Amino acid sequence: MQQHVGSYYAASRNLHTEYPALHGSVETDVCVIGAGYTGLSTALFLLEHGFSVTVLEAARVGFGASGRNGGQIVNSYSRDIDAIERQLPPKQAQLLGEMAFEGGRIIRERIARYDIQCDLKDGGVFAALTGKQLGHLEAQKKLWERYGHTQLHLLDKAGIGEVVGTDRYLGGLLDMSGGHIHPLNLALGEAAAVASLGGKLYEQSAATRIDRGANPVVHTANGQVKARFVVVAGNAYLGGLVPELAAKSMPCGTQVLTTEPLSEDMARSLLPQDYCVEDCNYLLDYFRLSADRRLIYGGGVVYGARDPADIEAIIRPKMLQTFPQLKDVKIDFTWTGNFLLTLSRLPQVGRLGDNIYYSQGCSGHGVTYTHLAGKVLAEALRGQAERFDAFAGLPHYPFPGGQLLRVPFTALGATYYQLRDRLGI
Ligand SMILES: Cc1cc2nc3c(=O)[nH]c(=O)nc-3n(C[C@H](O)[C@H](O)[C@H](O)COP(=O)(O)OP(=O)(O)OC[C@H]3O[C@@H](n4cnc5c(N)ncnc54)[C@H](O)[C@@H]3O)c2cc1C
Repeated sequence: MQQHVGSYYAASRNLHTEYPALHGSVETDVCVIGAGYTGLSTALFLLEHGFSVTVLEAARVGFGASGRNGGQIVNSYSRDIDAIERQLPPKQAQLLGEMAFEGGRIIRERIARYDIQCDLKDGGVFAALTGKQLGHLEAQKKLWERYGHTQLHLLDKAGIGEVVGTDRYLGGLLDMSGGHIHPLNLALGEAAAVASLGGKLYEQSAATRIDRGANPVVHTANGQVKARFVVVAGNAYLGGLVPELAAKSMPCGTQVLTTEPLSEDMARSLLPQDYCVEDCNYLLDYFRLSADRRLIYGGGVVYGARDPADIEAIIRPKMLQTFPQLKDVKIDFTWTGNFLLTLSRLPQVGRLGDNIYYSQGCSGHGVTYTHLAGKVLAEALRGQAERFDAFAGLPHYPFPGGQLLRVPFTALGATYYQLRDRLGI
């Protein structure tokens, strides 16, 4: 039986509900594969509109990235709206741009409506290490304002010094509609909301085969789900269940550590306003405080998602580069998790046949996007596919090198961007 990874989040989860495994045959309007944010958000929107929904989860609710991420509510997509403007006709680009800030609103609505206890805090900072990155943040502010975002504040060197206790950064961009949450408690709360609306959740119930056609059937080891529609939401943990989806994406690992609880003075000296922070490097560092004043620090990318042997050896030096004052602090938890990278770093959304829908590959920034994706998928299943079609229109390509060489090729590309970050060019 697969349990949650041994993370700080699993140790501090506030719901311990276990959902049964599927035995036998059930019928439903929609079978959702995967109980991460994409699957749970889709299920909730569908249930709110009267569909019957069955969610199959291979392990536990929030087992994947949704239960072990940095917890940062970051707006927009892993590539920003300007990249979308270059790839799509103006009308579709405009639609995707308008949606770039909706995921964070959905999260807050969910938390309020279903009374989800997940330590929501407002305020996120993008931190610049070079003049070039600061210039990008100025452009990002103008771009986001063009799409109606009004809660952005540029920070100069002194300004960022007031919100992050390090002298590493030259400046930054504060987004007051960003913020942070306890990610596993959000997922568990959303699952409880699904159940409260009559949705059926099954854990330890991996989908092993999908019979496609007019009446799709999803098989598990001990059961089957007959559905009108199937939504595939397994993201980086999907494996080979749907070969078309595996072919154009690549699972990648990123690692996180959590310190022991810090003294109030120490915690306030690191992050006085309790905002979350991510830097602007291609391979970025991200960090924030937990509700019990631990520093949660993440970074690093392992292309191909092999689990590193010593996570502390990878992340602790990064943390100490930002906060040398933590050199004597004990690390209580380390873990790794997988996100799904696409070559364009934009999400892949679409249909396989008439009745199998999918969304995957938000490439590192997915907490807000996945909540939006659930809404957009549910709209499409209800026959309103304009926003779904805008996403589906994004072009996608396989990674160069194919299955065999895509990992070294992509790592090589990342090394190039890393070098540019270091040199500030
Ligand atoms: C360590 C880490 C830190 C991150 N930090 C941030 C952050 O701070 N901010 C941010 O915006 N994004 C962050 N991300 C990205 C974000 O967490 C993900 O983009 C998002 O959670 C993906 O949600 P999902 O529902 O699509 O996939 P997942 O949460 O991975 O869920 C997929 C689920 O499907 C299940 N599944 C897979 N195959 C099957 C099957 N065959 N049958 C049944 N179930 C199946 C899996 O077990 C899993 O539970 C981070 C990711 C990681 C790994």
